[in-house]
Amino acid sequence: MDIPKNHPRYESLTLREKVKECLKQGIISEVGIAAHGRGEAFDYFIGERTTKEAERAIKAAAILLCNAKNPVLSVNGNTACLVPDEIVELSKIVPLKIEINLFYRTNEREIKIKEKLEKKGGANILGVGRNANEKIPGLDSLRGNVSRDGIFTADVVLVPLEDGDRAIALKDMGKKVIAIDLNPLSRTSLCSDITIVDNIVRAMPKLIQEIKIFKSNNTKEEFEFDNKENIKKSVRIMRDNLLRLEEKLT
Ligand code: ATP
Repeated sequence: MDIPKNHPRYESLTLREKVKECLKQGIISEVGIAAHGRGEAFDYFIGERTTKEAERAIKAAAILLCNAKNPVLSVNGNTACLVPDEIVELSKIVPLKIEINLFYRTNEREIKIKEKLEKKGGANILGVGRNANEKIPGLDSLRGNVSRDGIFTADVVLVPLEDGDRAIALKDMGKKVIAIDLNPLSRTSLCSDITIVDNIVRAMPKLIQEIKIFKSNNTKEEFEFDNKENIKKSVRIMRDNLLRLEEKLT
């Protein structure tokens, strides 16, 4: 569908079209549509912009990723659908490994996502088929299958749009977890070491930019970051936006 550029919800509707296409192509699951909708609602509350707090979390994430020994980006259907170019660029500049890790895992979908990322220049993509040869302790069935070279041995895992059980299980394995999640109240957001409360389509380009800055400065920069405090501020922004809306109605 052609959405007029001057439509007030142009960005959001364009993303919906993308998600619809990815569903047709078998990149995202039907349930992925619901997850996208939950994200949209929180994006509305945050004002559909990257806040100062998200920028701070992005900076902290850039430093943690650049200082990691074995950083891994966990990719699900929604992430591959929305930011395929950025996934590949991130894998090259950090550098980090890309691992496909699906909640509703089918080999067919894994392969489709792998091929999509390879077309964009992605290489050595982990987590597909028998490569997911290890298990995250405490996670049942296929959800816990991960690659030995990837998530299983990673010290830092970037988990955009993740489900809480898995994020908590990764924390229990002693890993540093960076989340990108518009819902500051999700279990993923609350258990992570760094939570970027922003839309992935805005956060990923900014993360790439921040990593480039960090690399070009070539310094051992110290950066104070308190995740709970940062999440609280994001919640306050959402609350204030809602209060302003309420005032308009009275
Ligand atoms: P949890 O299990 O962590 O409590 P959840 O049940 O909401 O949370 P899922 O639905 O599996 O977990 O994960 C999807 C998460 O991703 C949701 O919190 C949603 O707000 C978020 N999300 C969806 N789309 C986007 C997006 N484009 N950018 C950032 N976050 C998004």
